[in-house]
Amino acid sequence: MNTAKRIEILGIPVDMVSMAQAVEILGGLMKSMGCSLIVTPNSEIIVNAGKDPKLKEIITSADLVIPDGIGLVYASKILGCPLTERVTGIDFLNWILDWLEQNGKSIYLLGSKPGIDGNPGIADLAAKRMKETYPGLSVAGTHHGYFSESEEVGIVEKINQSGADFLCVALGAPKQEKFIARYQKSLNAKAAIGVGGSLDVWAGTAKRAPEFYQKHGLEWLYRFAREPSRYRRITALPLFMIKVLITRGR
Ligand code: UDP
Repeated sequence: MNTAKRIEILGIPVDMVSMAQAVEILGGLMKSMGCSLIVTPNSEIIVNAGKDPKLKEIITSADLVIPDGIGLVYASKILGCPLTERVTGIDFLNWILDWLEQNGKSIYLLGSKPGIDGNPGIADLAAKRMKETYPGLSVAGTHHGYFSESEEVGIVEKINQSGADFLCVALGAPKQEKFIARYQKSLNAKAAIGVGGSLDVWAGTAKRAPEFYQKHGLEWLYRFAREPSRYRRITALPLFMIKVLITRGR
């Protein structure tokens, strides 16, 4: 069960958890009934959730909401309810993999690009790398993330047939959160999380920002420099901070 204090940033709930607490809560969720939903909102997702009632509802009903982004930490300070620390989704995934390995549980990787011409897809490459890093980890199955709505039920059946204890969905936000929420009641896995581009990083096809950027909460800047086409998404951060300052002013 999640007993962490839940604060609100721009009307969206976020759990006041450190990485260690998030891992502890994960352990509890893996023992509870049904499939728990873990979400990892950053500034962009908080802004989008303010405009998307469905996304807001999903985050509000999630079992664990980790603060994925330096923007949230700054906002929480400005709003007078400081978060313990930033818990990035990609770092949390490492801890999840470690926890699953330690506890003999399996993971299913859904999402990212399929392989071309018989080559392994991103999820397969990520699975291979994960197993190299966590040799005791059991990967119950993988499936790429480019499927139609009519294929979804079949994919959920495949995930259930694999017997996976944990589901990792990499379809980008908010697609991944909406997918999990849509099938949460039919999923046999004990918990599921949306991880955005993390499988690409695991597969080695995308690079994570160097440590300097990570340490100073500047991963967004590094990403912008590498993919300027994402500029629209990057503008979410200043917009988010302006909204937070307006909220505080009120
Ligand atoms: N993706 C997918 N199916 C889709 C759209 C996206 O599997 O229909 C994958 C995409 O290949 C990438 C991930 O979802 O691996 C999204 O990565 P992005 O960096 O955009 O997500 P973010 O971390 O910014 O949420």
